[in-house]
Amino acid sequence: MTQQPHSRETTGPTAEAAAGAVPLRRRPEEDADVIVVGAGPAGSAVATHLARAGLDVLMLEKSTFPREKVCGDGLTPRGVKELIDLGVDTREEAGWLHNRGLRVVGGGVRMELAWPELASYPPYGVVRPRQDFDDMLARHAQAAGARLNQATTVVSAITDDRTGRVVGVRAKVGRERTEVSYRAPLTIACDGVSARLALSVGLEKRDDRPMGVAVRRYYTSPRTTDDYLESHLELWDRSDPANPRLLPGYGWLFGMGDGTVNAGLGILSTSKAYGRTDYRALMRSWLDGTPEEWGFREDNAVGKVGGAALPMGFNRVPHYRDGLLLVGDAGGMVNPFNGEGIAYAMQSAKLAADCVVHALSRPTPASREHALSRYPVALRQQLGGYYRLGNIFSKLIGNPVIMRTATKYGLPIETLMRLVLKLLAGLYDPKDGDAFDRMISAAVRMSPSA
Ligand SMILES: Cc1cc2nc3c(=O)[nH]c(=O)nc-3n(C[C@H](O)[C@H](O)[C@H](O)COP(=O)(O)OP(=O)(O)OC[C@H]3O[C@@H](n4cnc5c(N)ncnc54)[C@H](O)[C@@H]3O)c2cc1C
Repeated sequence: MTQQPHSRETTGPTAEAAAGAVPLRRRPEEDADVIVVGAGPAGSAVATHLARAGLDVLMLEKSTFPREKVCGDGLTPRGVKELIDLGVDTREEAGWLHNRGLRVVGGGVRMELAWPELASYPPYGVVRPRQDFDDMLARHAQAAGARLNQATTVVSAITDDRTGRVVGVRAKVGRERTEVSYRAPLTIACDGVSARLALSVGLEKRDDRPMGVAVRRYYTSPRTTDDYLESHLELWDRSDPANPRLLPGYGWLFGMGDGTVNAGLGILSTSKAYGRTDYRALMRSWLDGTPEEWGFREDNAVGKVGGAALPMGFNRVPHYRDGLLLVGDAGGMVNPFNGEGIAYAMQSAKLAADCVVHALSRPTPASREHALSRYPVALRQQLGGYYRLGNIFSKLIGNPVIMRTATKYGLPIETLMRLVLKLLAGLYDPKDGDAFDRMISAAVRMSPSA
């Protein structure tokens, strides 16, 4: 039986008022038009887009904001574009620390590559601690009319016995862990890499797609106001001193502008060292090799080392089935080229919202399903070929010989590195771009979707 949700923390316009001319779609026994599980960048973005279109959206989030999320806290221009699409003011005047590009360090080279000038993306990235960023995005969704229930851990999907369709979720609420059910015509899984909701209906991850693992820590550092994101492309695993290995991954130093730097590293699953490396020790030995005056030493550390997995290259599919959509990390949306996930969480959120809005405006179940089937198709059209290339790239650089050769001969060539930046960060104009953009677009078009 459906119980009423415990705490309806509705702020901003009521759902009914936000609905405007579009009538509510849910039946009386349902709790919302759409349930969104998880209020990270994917969940808050999809909820904002849906609420703006007049739907009654209920977000269920296991933690309580503001909360920490282990991340590098860096957004490339792709992420900034998604924020702008959400109506977030990303100007420096609004308190954002802008970055102008990527500084690449490795192979004896230190090169500053400005973000490219493009029609499709702004020429700047931003950094913001996730503790603050995710809180801001969740409030943004609430201001658009979405309801947010915090301290609500979703444990499984509720499926219709007859059709197998997802018709809601079961959750445990508050400290008492009270069991509550919520029902809606559609449910969107935005619960991150744990993907508990997708797993509850048997959607396992694909092992033929790359995974990453990343760790990070904050340090008090004079480099806090750096206006370039910095990446170190040479990560050596020296656990066997006789056989040091160059790992497929990179270390990053992102100045946070608040006196600290977010320092971390990420490694791909395609190398033999994956799963056998002590990532904290690897980070320690990399940072010990940086100049003392940068401050990346134990005395200046703020908080603990945190780590998590990065689900890449569409590693959980299908992205839509039987009333359940997967968005962001829950659908394995992290870019296999560079480990960036926030932009893709918000981009997939926008696509999902568009399909849901259209589906719920249709009169018949068959017609609704037709509209929803467009979500995985749109994802493949926008990202499938690119992720396919990224999956191949991650396999190639998992081979230490290829990784070493690329670092040694590729890094010193600035023109090549400009192309590499565009490819790895997905920063190219699909139409009407320069010669590099045309090359990347052609390669993406020729790759069958991931
Ligand atoms: C160390 C590290 C560094 C990274 N650095 C970067 C970076 O610099 N830039 C970048 O773009 N990406 C980075 N990423 C990737 C990025 O963090 C993710 O891709 C991004 O957070 C995905 O957003 P999401 O909304 O899909 O999932 P999440 O951000 O994980 O959000 C999921 C939300 O769901 C909630 N939730 C989970 N389970 C449940 C449940 N059962 N019930 C209710 N709620 C639930 C969680 O509390 C959370 O709020 C990094 C990742 C790691 C691990």
